[in-house]
Amino acid sequence: MTDIPKTHPRYASLMLRERLVTGFNEGYVAPQGLIAHGRGEMFYYLLGEKTTKDARAAAKAAAALLLEAERPVISVNGNVAALCPKEIVELADASGARIEVGLFHRSDQRVSRVAEVLERSGAKGVLGFLPDARIPGLESMRGLCTSEGIYSADVVLIPLEDGDRAEALARMGKRTIAIDLNPLSRTSRAATVTVVDEVTKAVPEITAHVEDLEDDTAARRRALAKYDRDENLARTMATMMRNLGGQE
Ligand code: ATP
Ligand code: MG
Repeated sequence: MTDIPKTHPRYASLMLRERLVTGFNEGYVAPQGLIAHGRGEMFYYLLGEKTTKDARAAAKAAAALLLEAERPVISVNGNVAALCPKEIVELADASGARIEVGLFHRSDQRVSRVAEVLERSGAKGVLGFLPDARIPGLESMRGLCTSEGIYSADVVLIPLEDGDRAEALARMGKRTIAIDLNPLSRTSRAATVTVVDEVTKAVPEITAHVEDLEDDTAARRRALAKYDRDENLARTMATMMRNLGGQE
């Protein structure tokens, strides 16, 4: 790993890049994943690299949705495994969700590496290696999933997802939770709940809300009733415009 001094003003951001480069060198982050991260960084910059009030409200609604689910599943790709495997396992444990490896650029080798990374962080029963179902409307490799996991899930958390898959999951009638720094992406606009925040911040934020809302059905329902995706995204874009010095 490159030696980055802690005092560097962009230390946190550079560390995330280092984790992705390590994942790439270990063969489970796709080269395209490195480019996707750059797009995310740009939107994070516009957000002031902070968790907004709107991201917190969305994370609370996301937690409520996970707790209301009967069969929640967290879909994990190479970037997510490189950036926050422990945090994903903690959220799965807190919410009772299964973890399934779902790759846009799928190869058996990459699926097993991602599963290994998750298992090293304590994940149990990771799904995805033996897909036996497919998401309708997606060509061969991209539609692969497991009948035990994503195929029969009622709520799917899709951090850093591709728009095609996010839309296909919505067409299947699933409720989805996106974590995506781009409020304009098709994923952000197709999900039931969209958390516009950096994934390493968003996942522990959702876990904290899961712990808070676990025994409080009324508070869960309130969080969901209060959340409006399009309004939340509009306010997030207004924050970005303010940071750019534009008009709201
Ligand atoms: P879509 O396919 O949804 O229309 P896209 O094609 O622009 O969007 P993809 O490359 O398919 O984007 O998906 C990656 C998404 O993940 C991007 O929207 C990017 O902003 C977001 N992203 C990348 N890195 C992070 C991160 N660390 N945290 C949160 N979001 C991220
Ligand atoms: Mg895309």
